[in-house]
Amino acid sequence: MYTKFQSFLNQELSQIKEAGLFKEERIITSPQGATIRVSTGQEVLNFCANNYLGLSNNPKLIVAAKEALDTRGYGMSSVRFICGTQDLHKQLEQKIAEFFGTEDTILYAAAFDANGGVFEPLLGDDDAIISDSLNHASIIDGVRLCKANRYRYANANMEELEEKLIEAQKNRFRLVVTDGVFSMDGNVAPMDKIIALATKYDAMVMIDESHSAGVVGKSGRGVTELFDVRGKAEIITGTLGKAFGGAVGGFTTGKKEIIDMLRQRSRPYLFSNSLPPMVVNAGIKMFEMMAETTELQDKLHRNTDYFMEKMLAAGFDIKPTKSAIAAVMLYDAKLSQEFAAKLLDEGVYVIGFYFPVVPKGEARIRVQLSAAHELEHLDKAIAAFSKVGKELGVIK
Ligand SMILES: *Cc1c(COP(=O)(O)O)cnc(C)c1O
Repeated sequence: MYTKFQSFLNQELSQIKEAGLFKEERIITSPQGATIRVSTGQEVLNFCANNYLGLSNNPKLIVAAKEALDTRGYGMSSVRFICGTQDLHKQLEQKIAEFFGTEDTILYAAAFDANGGVFEPLLGDDDAIISDSLNHASIIDGVRLCKANRYRYANANMEELEEKLIEAQKNRFRLVVTDGVFSMDGNVAPMDKIIALATKYDAMVMIDESHSAGVVGKSGRGVTELFDVRGKAEIITGTLGKAFGGAVGGFTTGKKEIIDMLRQRSRPYLFSNSLPPMVVNAGIKMFEMMAETTELQDKLHRNTDYFMEKMLAAGFDIKPTKSAIAAVMLYDAKLSQEFAAKLLDEGVYVIGFYFPVVPKGEARIRVQLSAAHELEHLDKAIAAFSKVGKELGVIK
């Protein structure tokens, strides 16, 4: 059997390659940071990590992780409800709830699991899920696992959301679900309007804050802070794998009864291993740091504003952003590849995105800013963009 399957796979793989869609992985030989070393020995400035607060290699988090290794061991060898819950797990859940101003939290191995396990236990075939068309793959998969009726509205389009809410009045319970920040454009979901519509049409709201938590809002509390609607969403999901240290882990936080039900019925929680103590303890330390100061957010916001201002002044076309993502629009797929390759030669690591990751004719380079970046890093990146932009005729 395998010989036939093997040639089938090889054919599919070469089609992916021929279409120019084959994903190669660049190998990094240093910790994650503003500068990284890649396996060719080259040192490059990193503008493509989700390391928004620069915490991926933070000394305090490393100490907290080591402490837990020494006092609580390496792994839990259990799911939460059998013997995988330490006091640390309960403390981290509490810290996350305090951060978001919610009632309780449930931890998962990843945000992918949090989204995969949130819909099916809560909603059934009488109910409605109304989902933004650009929501993350894990939300799409989670919705597929649930029997609720599905409605989709164009990205952040409030007229369409209202139409779908009207259509869904026939359903028993309605849940509107949206990413906080959409990762390809860096735009934010208009949470004030979404909450107002949900109130008007009697619906609940779920926000995936994976790209927005820690980043958006004056103190990094996410889109509910940015739009002054804290406590108004019933469900928030997020990751510990981006701004919050970048290791691994996800969570759902929100109304107490919702979290209680997820602990009883959410399959990725019930049937998957508990987070390791070192990750949990570093997470606790991280949220303590967030409660003490907004220094990292302030720096990240300054960096983003500076980068945007200089790049726009240089003549680049960038999507409006309220996040730490700057989508530098090039429109042409091949150009975006060439541009990214030339930037790497200049020592700046960024990724070009093109169809099918973004719509046809909307190729771009996505730049992710970080509190780990210093002014000299930003200036170097802007200079490299300008140089390559002129060489390739993108700017004058
Ligand atoms: C990154 C991301 C996830 C997945 O997070 P993991 O913890 O890595 O599984 C889920 N949702 C959104 C919106 C994301 O950006």
